[in-house]
Amino acid sequence: MASYLSGYKGRFAPSPTGPLHAGSLVAALASWLDARAHQGLWLVRIEDVDTPRCMPGADRIILQQLAACGLESDETPVYQSQRRALYRQALDQLVAHGLAYPCGCTRSDIADTLAGAGEARARHGELVYPGTCRSGLHGRAARTWRLLTAKYEENTAQVQEIRSQDAIKTGVFNDDVELMWHDRLLGKQGQNVSREVGDFVLKRADGLWAYQLAVVVDDAAQGMTDIVRGQDLADNTARQILLQQALGLPTPRYLHTPLVLGLNGEKLSKQNAAQALDTGDPLAALGQAGRTLGLGDPVSANTPARWLQQAVPLWAARCCSPAH
Ligand SMILES: [Zn+2]
Repeated sequence: MASYLSGYKGRFAPSPTGPLHAGSLVAALASWLDARAHQGLWLVRIEDVDTPRCMPGADRIILQQLAACGLESDETPVYQSQRRALYRQALDQLVAHGLAYPCGCTRSDIADTLAGAGEARARHGELVYPGTCRSGLHGRAARTWRLLTAKYEENTAQVQEIRSQDAIKTGVFNDDVELMWHDRLLGKQGQNVSREVGDFVLKRADGLWAYQLAVVVDDAAQGMTDIVRGQDLADNTARQILLQQALGLPTPRYLHTPLVLGLNGEKLSKQNAAQALDTGDPLAALGQAGRTLGLGDPVSANTPARWLQQAVPLWAARCCSPAH
């Protein structure tokens, strides 16, 4: 167990849909190095909330692959599938505050509404929800629960501040503002969640808890101070910050790492059948992950533990300067 001097707590949170691939090792390594560079704790959380996508036994394979590379959780890994009561509590809290509402729309209802309004807004294949059920279900049965993004966004102190500054500068009250956040590598980021994503789902039509809610609840419940993860997840950050604010939870610091691209130029993922990480040669696997992170290769290391030890100052020099 590492010394826990700084209060820093970070995590690697794989979905057990298959073994780790080269891209997931990059995210695991970055989060581990950042925790060690801050004398912090590093935890593994198994994100198995989307049960139909999970592969039986993949959690154990992932933990073995990490261990082969010298990456071991400082606390017993937690499983999201065992934490549903926490997600229920969070949804109940949002509903009690009028920040979440039931939605009776099917995907084709949403498509029809958007088409009727002459809009075909989609984001990564997901239609931007037009807010149909904000005013009630109108006799339909609830299928999903959604966050009332606009109402909450309007009420955040940050948004009020941006608006009042804009109003002073331009004399115009701007109601189209982005939620801004800082990424330690990518810098200033922003997203208008209600316009670009819409009121997003917290509980799915199949009864499963949505990724966004589970992650936000778990990060807070586990006291995470820093989120270090792959850049493919950066797009979720504004939604997660909105949810944190709606639930009265602290916002951690964020850093999104570069992605490993396959030969076809697409990101590696289990969905596009990326090869499982070969941990028969952990030094080679760590070396490749380190190069993706721009660390160079600690060449004199002959064990994963030594490699990791030597990589910590390289990471610190790259990602832990005062600017980050
Ligand atoms: Zn609806």
